[in-house]
Amino acid sequence: MNAPSVLTELLEAAREIVAASDALAAFAPWPDGAEPAARGAAAIPALEEIAELAAPEPVQNAALQDAILRAADAIDWRQTYTEEEVGRHFLDHFGYCELIGPEGHFLSQEYRAFIAYWGEGLHYDWHVHEAEELYFIVSGEAEFFREGEAGQVLRAGDTRLHRPMQPHAMTTGDSPVLAFILWRGSGVAELPRMGRE
Ligand code: ZN
Repeated sequence: MNAPSVLTELLEAAREIVAASDALAAFAPWPDGAEPAARGAAAIPALEEIAELAAPEPVQNAALQDAILRAADAIDWRQTYTEEEVGRHFLDHFGYCELIGPEGHFLSQEYRAFIAYWGEGLHYDWHVHEAEELYFIVSGEAEFFREGEAGQVLRAGDTRLHRPMQPHAMTTGDSPVLAFILWRGSGVAELPRMGRE
């Protein structure tokens, strides 16, 4: 099975951003040789605004974002949440893809890498998952919340750890945010769920 070349190039751009970030590289070993899955593309309403994202700094973030934009029409974009859970407006400006993982474009049972987009003015309410998670901001900015702590604004190149089952939330302001997200550990094959437990 061969993946579309734009997806192979996206995988390579992801490998390079992980190699360039101490936090990403230390989080989990890169899954060398992850096999491509036979997975078709799926579109989301937010694709139009994703295509218009401004190029971030530093240059390796711009390279990853470029690779995402070039692959956008080949990506199996997902939303997971229902309109009842998050509302129509949220779903019109949100989407993610599983680049690497049990259900990803490239297969791994231990490593999971997502690319996720939220448009401006969205609130991603409290949610939890068992897997440990590291956010890396590719472009834009958002305020991140962990239960019991003050919010923190993250921008391109910043990282953020969420421990297993630690409730977290996020709000975007005047700018969208594009994130590269890694999961590891127990529960890596599951999905987040809304709520605090
Ligand atoms: Zn999370």
